[in-house]
Amino acid sequence: MLRVLPGDLGYYLPGTATDSAKDKGLSSSAYIIAQGQACGIIDTGLGARTFRALVSCLGAHRLTPRWVIFTHDHYDHVANGPWIRRHYNVPLLIHPEDRPLVEQPLRIFDDDLMRSHYSGTLRDAFEDMNRFPEQYRRYQREVSEDQYHPVRIDETVEDGDTLQLENFRLRVLHTPGHSPGSISLYEPSHGAVFAGDLPLWLGPGRPYPLGNYSHWKASMDRLLALSPRFIGWGHSIPTSGQENCRRLLQNTLRRVTEIGRAIEEQLSTGERTTAELLEAMDLVPAAHREMAEHSVHAILATLRDEKKVATMRVKGMLYWGLR
Ligand SMILES: [Zn+2]
Repeated sequence: MLRVLPGDLGYYLPGTATDSAKDKGLSSSAYIIAQGQACGIIDTGLGARTFRALVSCLGAHRLTPRWVIFTHDHYDHVANGPWIRRHYNVPLLIHPEDRPLVEQPLRIFDDDLMRSHYSGTLRDAFEDMNRFPEQYRRYQREVSEDQYHPVRIDETVEDGDTLQLENFRLRVLHTPGHSPGSISLYEPSHGAVFAGDLPLWLGPGRPYPLGNYSHWKASMDRLLALSPRFIGWGHSIPTSGQENCRRLLQNTLRRVTEIGRAIEEQLSTGERTTAELLEAMDLVPAAHREMAEHSVHAILATLRDEKKVATMRVKGMLYWGLR
C-alpha cells in the first residue's frame, strides 16, 4: 500500500475505500514528506486502515512528524488528524478559510456563518438546483452521521507561508476553488506540488459558494505557471514528469471550460434547470452525478455573478437562462 515519492521526498499512501461501516466513503491519499528523521504529513485520510498504515510507515522509517497540514476541510482528508495528533503530539494546520467547517462541520448549514464567511448559503445552492428541501435534508443527515468528523485546528497557514523540515521548504499556495480555503504545497527543488482535490476532473466538485469556478480556474492557472514535475493529489496516483503534469492540468482545465461553454450553448436554446443541463450534456456516470451537478452549479453561479445568466422561478421550479 505504501509507495515511495520521487527523489528523496518521502512516501505516500494512495486513497482507498475505507474498511469500517462507520467511516463511509473513500479515504484521500496521505503524503509523508521525510527529511532525515523528521517528516510532515499532508492530509491524513479517513478510516482505521489508513491510520494504521501511516503509523506503521512512520515506525518502520523511524520518522517523527513535526506537523500535519490539510489541503482542505473535507472529512475524507482530515478525519484521521486527531488520531495522529494524539499519537505523536503534533500540531494540525489548515488555511483559515476552511477552519470553521473543519472544526464544526455542521455549520455548513448555519446560514449566518455561510453568508458572512462565504457570501452565500448551502440552502440557496440547493434551491438553485431544485433540491430543497428533501435532498438538502438528506445531505444534512449524511453530514451529521457519516461525514461528521470535527477536527480542532492548532494553527492556520496563509499564502506565502513556508513549512520547514531540516533544510527542506514547502511553500503554501492558497488555491481556492474546490473549497474556499484549499491550499497546495509547493516544493521547488523537486518541482513538486501537493494539490489536494483541486485537479479533480469535474472541476470545483462542490456547489457555489463552497466551490467557485472562477477561483478554481485561477488556481489551476497558478499551478500550471509553476511547470510542476510532480503533482500529488487527493484521489488518484500522483502524476510524474513535467509533460504529464502540464497535460493533467491543461486537460482538466479544458474539460471544465468546455462544460462552461456547453452550458451557455444549451441556455441559448431556452431556459433549463440544473438537472436538465446535466441530462443534456451527458457528463458523467450515475455514480458521480451529484458531484457533477455541484460543479455545474458552481459554474452557473459564477456566470450569474458575471451577469451572463439569470434565474427565474416557474411553477415552483428554478430555471437558468441567458441574460
Ligand atoms: Zn475535497
